[in-house]
Amino acid sequence: MSFVLVGAGPTGVELAGSLAELRNHILTRDYPDLQKEHMKVYLVDFLPKVLGPFSDEGSAAAKRFLVDMGVEVLLNVKVESYDGEEIKFEGGKTIKTKNVIWSAGVMGVVPEGLSKDVIERGNRISVDSINRIKGFENVFAIGDVAAMISEETPKGHPGVAQVAIQQGKLVGQNLIKLINGEPTEPFVYNDKGSLATIGRNKAIADLGKIKFQGFFAWLIWMFVHLISLLGFRNKVIVFINWISNYLANNGGARIIIRRFKPEELPKKDEQVAKAD
Ligand SMILES: Cc1cc2nc3c(=O)[nH]c(=O)nc-3n(C[C@H](O)[C@H](O)[C@H](O)COP(=O)(O)OP(=O)(O)OC[C@H]3O[C@@H](n4cnc5c(N)ncnc54)[C@H](O)[C@@H]3O)c2cc1C
Repeated sequence: MSFVLVGAGPTGVELAGSLAELRNHILTRDYPDLQKEHMKVYLVDFLPKVLGPFSDEGSAAAKRFLVDMGVEVLLNVKVESYDGEEIKFEGGKTIKTKNVIWSAGVMGVVPEGLSKDVIERGNRISVDSINRIKGFENVFAIGDVAAMISEETPKGHPGVAQVAIQQGKLVGQNLIKLINGEPTEPFVYNDKGSLATIGRNKAIADLGKIKFQGFFAWLIWMFVHLISLLGFRNKVIVFINWISNYLANNGGARIIIRRFKPEELPKKDEQVAKAD
C-alpha cells in the first residue's frame, strides 16, 4: 500500500510525518501480521526543497527528519497525471497507488459578479492596501482569498491564519474610520514566524532570525498551539491528552472494525427485495 502526497509545504510535510509515525509505531502494534515495509509514504514536490517558504536550515532538517522516518522524498518532480491506479511524473517515472493526497494548495471560492480582472492566481481576489476589492468602494476581501499584491508581496501574503486574523482586525478598525471620515491604515503583515511539526520530538521553528529544529522547536510548536486554543478548560484537556499520548507513545485514534464475515452479507435477491 502506498500513499503519495503531492506538495511538500507544511501540510504535506506534517501529513507525511503523521503517516510515517502511524506506520512505524501503530500499524505494527495493531496489525502484527502486516509488515511496515509494505506501506510506503512518498512526498513529492516540483521545488528543490521541502517547506519552500522556510529557511534553508529548517527545510534541510525537515527533509532529514522525514527520510529518517522512512518517507521517500521526491523533489524536482512534477505530477503529470493520475488515473486512480498509477500516478505519472514528468520524465516518465510512475508509482502504482490508490492513495494520492493533494497537499499542493487551495483555491479561493469567488462569488459571482466579480470581473475576471480582479481574480489572481489561485482564485484570489485582488485587493488594495486596506483589503478593498479593486474597483469597489465598499466590498472587502480578507484572509486566504485576498491577494494584496505589492512590490514587497508580489504573490500576495501567505495563506496562513495570522494573515487572516490580522487583516480581519484591521478591516474592522478601518471600517469604523471610513464611517467617521477618518484616514485609514494600510495593512502591514506582522510575521510572527513559521512552525511545522513532523513527528514526535521533531519540528521546525523559524522565528525571524531565531531558528530551532528538533525537540525544542517541537516544544515551541506545542506551546503556541496550546495557548491558541479558546478557553482554559480546552487548554487543560488537550494538554493532559498530549501528555498521556506522549507517555504511552500510542496515538488515540482507532478505527473500530469487526472481523469480516462474508456469510453476514444479504444475498443479491434479498437486496433487490428490500430495495423494492
Ligand atoms: C490542511 C491545512 C493546514 C493548515 N495549517 C495551518 C497552520 O498550521 N497554521 C496556519 O497559520 N495556517 C494553517 N493553514 C491555513 C489556514 O487554515 C488559513 O490561512 C486560514 O484558515 C484562513 O482563514 P480565512 O478566514 O481566510 O479562510 P477560511 O478559514 O477558509 O474560512 C473561510 C470560510 O468561508 C466559508 N465559505 C466559503 N465560501 C462561502 C460562501 N459562498 N458562503 C458562505 N461561506 C463560505 C468556508 O466554508 C469557510 O468556513 C492550514 C490550511 C490547511 C488547508
